[in-house]
Amino acid sequence: MKYTPAIRQMSPGRRIDFCTLAGVENIRSEQGTWPHVRGTTILTSGAPDEGPHIVGRWKQQLTELHLSGTGQLAYEFANYRNDEQAILRFTKKYGPLERWGKPEPGKEFRFPASEWQAHQKQFKQVWESIEAGKLSAQIGNRLIIKNGHLRCETRKLLGLLLADLFSCPRERLKKCCRPDCLTPYFIAHHLGQRFCCDVCAAWAQRKLKQQWWAEHGDEWRKAKSKRRTRLSKGRSKRTSRGEK
Ligand SMILES: [Zn+2]
Repeated sequence: MKYTPAIRQMSPGRRIDFCTLAGVENIRSEQGTWPHVRGTTILTSGAPDEGPHIVGRWKQQLTELHLSGTGQLAYEFANYRNDEQAILRFTKKYGPLERWGKPEPGKEFRFPASEWQAHQKQFKQVWESIEAGKLSAQIGNRLIIKNGHLRCETRKLLGLLLADLFSCPRERLKKCCRPDCLTPYFIAHHLGQRFCCDVCAAWAQRKLKQQWWAEHGDEWRKAKSKRRTRLSKGRSKRTSRGEK
């Protein structure tokens, strides 16, 4: 007997809600040398971390961060600036990328800015290696039913970002062909799209034109001046014969 999946006719896609726990406050950066910290635990092994650290606290009332448009959060993270101020802004908005254990309301967390940068760099590399079949990562999640909805709660923000990236159709994850593009990671509307936006596409058009002129400009100008001489010769002949 052949099984006919009726549900396919009824609903075109599965509904699953991806989310992670969020809600942070008092985010700031601190300079100096700090011991290795994992979440709220100070590690005694390894050299201390240099450079700015981002420090903050989990709110008493934790909230939830949900994925909305497909790839939207992944897009934002991949294109985010990576200086200290930007990392502060990102953390205020979304919280730390990593965490160890459940976020405890009111507890402080701390991570070196360099760690955030390393995570982002790796995320961009994953985006670029569209052959993501190679990648295997432990996202760490629990699949639960809440208020009648199926949902996947990732343990950390980084897991949610990866879930967002990998639930996008692979062939649409692209990098803009303009070398100095400031937000090069994008999700293509159509498969032939090579540039992230109209501005970059217009830049490419201009560049093509410039190239054409550099290669064919002299030829074109010569041909044009020849045409002109021929025309003006023709005209002067006609005038000498009394034609208009
Ligand atoms: Zn671009």
